[in-house]
Amino acid sequence: MTFSTLHYYCLFLTVITISPARSFCLSMMAATTKPPRRIVVVGGGIQGTSVAYHLAERPEVEQVTILEAKSPASAASGKGGGFMARGWGDGSPTQRLHELAFDMYEQLAPALGCTSYRKLPVLSVSAGYKKGIALARKNPQLASILPNWLDGDEYGRISPLGLGDDTAQITPSEFVEKMLQAKSDKITVVLGTCHGVETDQGSERGNRKVFGVKYAPRGETEEKMLAADAVVVSAGPWSCAAEDWFLGAVQLPMEGVKSTSIVWAKPKNEDVDATALFCGEDDRFGTHLEVHPRPDGTIYICGIGGSDYISTDELKAGAFREECNAKDTRAEAAKNSFQQMSSMYRTDGELDRVQACMRPCPPDAIPYMGAIPGYEGAYINAGHNCWGIAWAPACGKAMTELVMDGQSRSIDLTPFDPSRFTPAAQRGGRGRKKKGMSVGEQW
Ligand SMILES: Cc1cc2nc3c(=O)[nH]c(=O)nc-3n(C[C@H](O)[C@H](O)[C@H](O)COP(=O)(O)OP(=O)(O)OC[C@H]3O[C@@H](n4cnc5c(N)ncnc54)[C@H](O)[C@@H]3O)c2cc1C
Repeated sequence: MTFSTLHYYCLFLTVITISPARSFCLSMMAATTKPPRRIVVVGGGIQGTSVAYHLAERPEVEQVTILEAKSPASAASGKGGGFMARGWGDGSPTQRLHELAFDMYEQLAPALGCTSYRKLPVLSVSAGYKKGIALARKNPQLASILPNWLDGDEYGRISPLGLGDDTAQITPSEFVEKMLQAKSDKITVVLGTCHGVETDQGSERGNRKVFGVKYAPRGETEEKMLAADAVVVSAGPWSCAAEDWFLGAVQLPMEGVKSTSIVWAKPKNEDVDATALFCGEDDRFGTHLEVHPRPDGTIYICGIGGSDYISTDELKAGAFREECNAKDTRAEAAKNSFQQMSSMYRTDGELDRVQACMRPCPPDAIPYMGAIPGYEGAYINAGHNCWGIAWAPACGKAMTELVMDGQSRSIDLTPFDPSRFTPAAQRGGRGRKKKGMSVGEQW
């Protein structure tokens, strides 16, 4: 049976027959499509790099190119916290991402030689003026995980959120670097900004087939093309530009939440105990700190309030990709709020860094993970909100299965459908063509 005879036969069966025959047809069709060998991943954050890493694990993949506008892990994947929690999915579609990725990190981080990965306990601390520390010290379970630097007196209730078995951390830039090193035989990083894709006019299935990715090399204006059998857009908040790259076949509403964070330098004469804090709203400073002591003795703090909300149109124009300015007033507020809790840092604390980066937020806070409708060899993996580091291994694995096998076995990607905000009639673009002939919208 030729491909097109099979195709029409399958369409016929799809309409008139029962689902087992339909799924047989779909798997026969998937089997006739060759898996891609040269793949371009747009974006060298932790998500794009994880997709590239898992693709590179497949023997049939010859070459993975990461097209990165600035440098790998230069955005949120270099400046985010790196906290992860196996059981914090709360029954939502993202729960499996938490679980699978947590288990994968446990294997991958040591295998790749990451020194910044460790499990650690977590406390919830409410800000206030009461002497909560005295009460916490009377509770043996709490006392055993109270960190030495939580020695101030201005906070209220303290309770455990995790005892260190299902909560962990990694410094995301290290994970990105180690994944790239481990697959340096297959992954190439090209510095340049993606401008779109090159496709044919429509293949046997009526879909346009991707054959290249257009980009301007960093510091140059002349456009070039990377040849590709498939492209995965994984450019964090800026991935919404793919709406235009795929001619409106999919709508990808996105907001960038631009937040300042601070990093305390390693104290000269003190160890820094490994317990993370999630703090309640501190009205005095407008903060709700997340405090993450790292194995290198630094303390990373975010949740410092005063974030800016960047629109889809601004993101499409590349807002804050090259430079992402921190807010000194918010850094000062975070510093003061933390020093109320830590006399150790009030006396001796020195800030190492003040920085800012952007969280990629679709309107429903659920990532876009799937195929671009109306295209063959086109995928998106973006919008992972405040868990893009924690979920990265699971997303890389699931996207690789989708690209290479036609379906993800590890994660049910249905809730992450990138077309969910696109009206049905517009999915895949209007008036698409099959062999140069218009085939209307039903394709
Ligand atoms: C303050 C803060 C703290 C956080 N803490 C945590 C945490 O503790 N745990 C957790 O799991 N998550 C955390 N997050 C969220 C996490 O950082 C993000 O979800 C994650 O880093 C997103 O990764 P990404 O690879 O999708 O995007 P990014 O890291 O934004 O990377 C996208 C990359 O794409 C590149 N790019 C963009 N456009 C183009 C283009 N046209 N061509 C080529 N390249 C392009 C950019 O230069 C960038 O390097 C935090 C976020 C923030 C803001």
